[in-house]
Amino acid sequence: MQTQILGLVTPLMALFFAATFVVIWRAGRMKRYVLGFGVAFAFSATGFLITHFLPLDGVYLFHTTQVFYSLGSIIMIASVCERAGQRLHLWSVAFVYVTAASVLAVAVTLTNDVGPRLIIVNMGYGVMFVIGAMALLTSRRRDAIDLAIIAVMVFQAVDFLARPSLTLLFEKTIPAEVYRDSIYYSLIGLVLGIKGVTTAVVLIGATIVDWTKSLRESSERDLLTGLLNRGAFEQSMRTLLPRAQTEGRPLTLVVADIDHFKQVNDIWGHQSGDRAISSFGSLIQETVRGCDTAGRIGGEEFCIAVWNCENEPAERLAERIRKAFASLEHSGLNKGIRLTASFGVATARVGETYERLFSRADAALYQAKSGGRDCVKNAERRAADSAVPVVGAEEPKLKRAVAE
Ligand code: GH3
Ligand code: MG
Ligand code: MG
Repeated sequence: MQTQILGLVTPLMALFFAATFVVIWRAGRMKRYVLGFGVAFAFSATGFLITHFLPLDGVYLFHTTQVFYSLGSIIMIASVCERAGQRLHLWSVAFVYVTAASVLAVAVTLTNDVGPRLIIVNMGYGVMFVIGAMALLTSRRRDAIDLAIIAVMVFQAVDFLARPSLTLLFEKTIPAEVYRDSIYYSLIGLVLGIKGVTTAVVLIGATIVDWTKSLRESSERDLLTGLLNRGAFEQSMRTLLPRAQTEGRPLTLVVADIDHFKQVNDIWGHQSGDRAISSFGSLIQETVRGCDTAGRIGGEEFCIAVWNCENEPAERLAERIRKAFASLEHSGLNKGIRLTASFGVATARVGETYERLFSRADAALYQAKSGGRDCVKNAERRAADSAVPVVGAEEPKLKRAVAE
């Protein structure tokens, strides 16, 4: 009776962890891998319950438990790989499973000794965890929590590969009928408990780290465009500018503002205006490189910090965005209507503050607006093209276009 109750500890713990992951997944609207952790623990808990409570029939017990443990292990490994952005080679894992299951099927008919079956089954899990650990090692994620997950995978692999053989050195044979009275069986309860808790603690830790990170990121993002909001953009500039100076890299700031945007709202409504802002944001996001930083710093004003980029290539980038935007079709606007944007470009000088750099780029943008809009002006070349037409001299373009 006491053994039966003690045997419930590991499966109940695994079920508790399964429920914890499902709750976090739902509450945090987290990605699929968190649900995967929960499902993996639920399958493992089912495996533990079957091992402990079903009748001791060799084939029945081993094959049934192997299905649940394997599903638990595969889903667990696939989920940690998905978290790290790595693809688990499912065919290799399936091959390991089929091989282990086939050898097991033969072993069960050959001997009543449980020892060889345990070695075969555990070798299978061990190899699966080795495949998982290798996939994680090729990932670029190397934070402390990522290393902890790799350590857990290696711990699982070593345990599965070494424990059965080591235990069986002391306990030469285990007839199937007395399996639950063996040293191996007493030990496995303890080992599974320790492994379950260690794995769960590390994975819950990783889930909380990911949750916090996504909350922080979403508070820094502008909802309409997904780009950084003004505060987050300015904050990142205060880190980027000194870093560029220390590393001796050029940093160029591009400021953009959609032309005649008030008219867009006036003529086609605020929602159409929102969609145009969102399209401009997507276009910027698609055009900049991963190392650049883009933000929506005002209603229809955007900023791009072009990292490690001299003035002229950044000006060409602004030119590419300008041309692409000018040819974009917008839903909700009259057919044939195209919007335009004006751009200002400035490259950071030695010791320059963000405020100073921004005001130079903004002045170039102002020059672009005054110079007829739908163009890029470069603060570093302002002196050369200083002939600026009078502000507001042109006729509102969109109203004219709709009237035609
Ligand atoms: P200019 O070419 O000189 O930039 O002219 P403009 O009409 O674009 O002038 P301005 O930049 O001063 O006006 C921006 C307008 O953008 C004012 C406001 O109604 C609109 N706006 C600001 N934020 C939003 C937003 O989130 N959604 C929408 N639809 N409109 C916005
Ligand atoms: Mg504008
Ligand atoms: Mg504006």
